[in-house]
Formats: sequence, C-alpha cells, structure tokens
Amino acid sequence: MISSDLVACAISTPFWRWRRRLSVGNEKCALHSERPTSFCAAIIGAGFAGCTIAERLASAGHCVLVIDQRSHIGGNAYDELDAHGVLIHRYGPHIFHTNAQRVVDYLSRFTDWLPYEHRVLASVDGQLLPIPINQDTINRLYNLHLDEAGVQAFLDRVREPRDPIKTSEDVVLNTVGRDLYEKFFRGYTRKQWGLDPSQLSAAVTARIPVRTNRDNRYFNDQFQIMPKDGYTALFQQMLDHPNIRLELNTDFFAIRHRLNAKTVIYTGPIDAYFDDCYGPLPYRSLHFEHEHQPGIAQYQPVAVINYPNDHAYTRITEFKHLTSQSHPGTSIVREYPQAEGDPYYPIPRPENEALYQRYKALAACESNAFFVGRLAQYRYYNMDQVVAAALKTADQILGLARD
Ligand SMILES: Cc1cc2nc3c(=O)[nH]c(=O)nc-3n(C[C@H](O)[C@H](O)[C@H](O)COP(=O)(O)OP(=O)(O)OC[C@H]3O[C@@H](n4cnc5c(N)ncnc54)[C@H](O)[C@@H]3O)c2cc1C
Repeated sequence: MISSDLVACAISTPFWRWRRRLSVGNEKCALHSERPTSFCAAIIGAGFAGCTIAERLASAGHCVLVIDQRSHIGGNAYDELDAHGVLIHRYGPHIFHTNAQRVVDYLSRFTDWLPYEHRVLASVDGQLLPIPINQDTINRLYNLHLDEAGVQAFLDRVREPRDPIKTSEDVVLNTVGRDLYEKFFRGYTRKQWGLDPSQLSAAVTARIPVRTNRDNRYFNDQFQIMPKDGYTALFQQMLDHPNIRLELNTDFFAIRHRLNAKTVIYTGPIDAYFDDCYGPLPYRSLHFEHEHQPGIAQYQPVAVINYPNDHAYTRITEFKHLTSQSHPGTSIVREYPQAEGDPYYPIPRPENEALYQRYKALAACESNAFFVGRLAQYRYYNMDQVVAAALKTADQILGLARD
C-alpha cells in the first residue's frame, strides 16, 4: 500500500545537514519548533498542485516538505500588494471559473469568495468590441442591427466550413469566417504563441466560445468567483498546518541528490525532471510590464483589453476590476509573449504532445514519484483543473482512489 509506505518514509540525514534557509514563508512549519524530523512526502512546487496535495496529505496525518525555487508560495497564481498598495497578480490576471462543485467546496475551506464575471474587450478597427464575439461585436463592427437569428444567419453565410478540423485556424474559419478570424484571432494568436493558428492544435481556439446573443461574459462556467482576500491568502491558509514544512528559494535540482524522500510529488516541468533526455519540451513565456497610474481611479472600462493587431503586447489588465479593491490610483500590466524565460504555457502542437508522451512513459516508471500540474502534465490546465487533478492524486496516494 502506498499509504503505509508513506508513513514509514523519511528524509535522510544528509538532507537534514543541509540547512540553507534563505527564506521562511510559513512560521508554523519552521525548523525551530518541536517538529518530527521525518517526512512522508516531498512536494516540488508551491502552486495550486503542490499546495493542494500538501494540505491533503498533512490533514491525513502525514508530514510533508514543500519546496519552491521562487521566493513565494502560490506559483503563477501568486498575488501581492504592489508598492502603491494595489493588489496585483505578479504573473498576469488569474480569474477563477469552474463547473466543478468538488473544487469549489474544497477551496472554500480556505477562502471566502467575491462574485466576479470576467469581461474582455478587443481593440479592433478603432473600437473596443466584446470578445468572445457576440451579437454586439458583429453589429458594431459591421454597423448592423441583427437579432440573434440574424447573427446566426450572418455567421452561416461568412463561415468557411472545414472538414476535418485539425488546427486553430480550422476552428475559427469554420465558425466565424475569414474577416473575423483576421481581425480578432490571427494577430493575437501569432503574438501569443509565436506561431500561426494553422500551426497550432484545434484545442487552443476551441476554448473561446462564439455567441449569437448579447452575453458578454468571457466564461460560461457555473462558478465565476475570486478569492475574497486574494490567492496568496488562500495558499497561506492551505499550508497553515503543523505537518507542513515549507522551504522557499530552493531548487529541487540543487538538492535532489540529498533528498531521500520516499514519495516525491513533482509539479515543475516534466522534461527538466528527466534532464531533458529526449530534448526540451517547448514552452511559451511572457514578460510582464507592471505600471501604477496614480490618481486615476479607473484606467479602462473592463479588466482586460486585448490588442490583436496593434502593439507588441497582447493585452492590458487593470487589477482593481478583478479584486473589487477601492484605491485612488490603479495598477495595470501589459503582457509581452516571448520564447525565452519562465515556462508559462505548454505549446499545444501534435509533435509536442508526442514528445510529452515519451516523458510521461518515463514518469510511469518512477514508482515513488507523482507528476501533477500544468508543467508536470504538459497541459493547458486552468486553476480548477489543476486542483481537480491534485485532489485525485492525493486520493490515490492516500489509497482513497475513487472509482
Ligand atoms: C499569464 C497566465 C494567466 C493565467 N490565467 C488563468 C486564469 O485566468 N484562470 C485560470 O484558471 N488559470 C489561469 N492560468 C493558469 C494557472 O496559472 C495554472 O493553471 C496554475 O497556476 C497551475 O498551477 P501548478 O501548481 O500546476 O503550476 P505553477 O503555478 O506553475 O506552480 C509550479 C511551481 O513549481 C515551482 N518549481 C518548478 N520547478 C521547480 C524546481 N526545480 N524546484 C523548485 N520549485 C520548482 C515553480 O516555481 C512554481 O511555483 C494562467 C496562467 C498564466 C501563465
């Protein structure tokens, strides 16, 4: 049984001689307390995947070590007050949306929520138009007065049917035709991924709905909510357990040879775990340009404005829309996609998926390691999907796997 193995496991003495503590993010799991010195599991990464599994194992009575190479918890969902006191998302806007009741129930143990429905405008032909494309987008762009049936007839007329649908270009042309494709999707996708939509899997643009009604919400999900005190506060609550010890500024690869934990939960890039032995998996990175606008209560009418055709950045986010914070000034971020830098997005292409499958096969041979999360599973997962995957893995580790 994995669970009895877990109870018996420990971090080896050599690891304990290693005491380079550059930062302590959670006082309750400090080294200095009268804590047991054996661990059941070492968790690499303190994002949604790592924190969820840490909390589950700790609550089941196991001692857990969580490490992260960054100086903070929360992974890419980390938020913080900027120098001006505005709550910002350091790694770009994170909007929580899900249909998974189990995920909401679980996270609600650690946070209250604020209702938030995300709305996005796209700057096209000198106008700010709703995206996903809806009735208003089409009427305002083409100076029409169509109702729902009229928009459907319009789309039926302009769409370019594709069969089979293999690429992102196929998806969009098949749904909205060439003009809307070129105005809203082509430039944005080329900036975001550094690739033409014809080079990307259908899944990338299949995520974006097209509506004939006037619904201007970005997501359709049943739950559209934001953690009341922010994501970092949520993560702090998750890790606030006497069985959890946290080590920040700690790179797994610098200590793995001294880390003798019997069970490892790894949430970093899967190719790095195996020393890129089949070659590196491609990731897309971002440069974030944060800016504070003093004395301006509101910079833009909605949280996010996309720039599909102008500028090197893809979008501008104004955080106060997301967090409902009152502040006399406001803070924004521009996102510049780039090839180099932290791995943010797995790039959905068939050849990348094939390479990932080779790493996944290696991972399956690691009897004591679990690979969970956006980078470890090389999946374009949203936060709720990562939490769902992590809950499933925790159940599996604890021997509670559901049918
Ligand atoms: C710009 C952007 C916007 C997004 N917006 C949304 C959104 O609106 N809604 C949504 O649901 N999702 C969004 N996502 C996706 C969301 O960020 C992820 O689904 C989620 O954060 C993934 O959690 P994770 O734990 O798998 O990975 P991460 O959050 O990436 O955490 C992995 C952690 O592992 C650590 N790590 C990696 N390698 C090592 C190592 N060698 N040693 C030690 N630590 C290591 C990293 O430092 C990191 O902290 C967005 C992502 C990005 C990049």
